[in-house]
Amino acid sequence: MTISKDIKFDCAHMLSGYEGKCANLHGHTYHGTVTIEGDIDASTGMLLDYNEIKKVVDKYDHAIIFSSVDLRYTAEEDLLGWAQKNNMRYVVLPFGKSTAEVLALTIAEEFDHYGKVTVRLSETDGSWAEAEAHA
Ligand SMILES: [Zn+2]
Repeated sequence: MTISKDIKFDCAHMLSGYEGKCANLHGHTYHGTVTIEGDIDASTGMLLDYNEIKKVVDKYDHAIIFSSVDLRYTAEEDLLGWAQKNNMRYVVLPFGKSTAEVLALTIAEEFDHYGKVTVRLSETDGSWAEAEAHA
């Protein structure tokens, strides 16, 4: 059994240390699909309430996404301090830099206890990253 939900959220990020324009703070409207393959819970008749997917993805919406602690350069570190000081919404990734690939895998791993998860995520139209995570 699989369930899928389309996702969409707006984020700001920067690719610390990247040689190119993506090193600057900028934003995307990310869009894609979360697909979960697992078993129906006999008591609810659902694999997972779709709203649970929305709740997880909503924490990224209108947030600044930061690289994991060991991969941030000075500008990103300063921006994190500013975000904390000013009570801005932000997410620090558990690993890696804030690329579509890492973000797709991070989201997939949030659901891997339900079964096999596939997250397809686009930063821009016509290109996407696809990540899989397993229980
Ligand atoms: Zn970007």
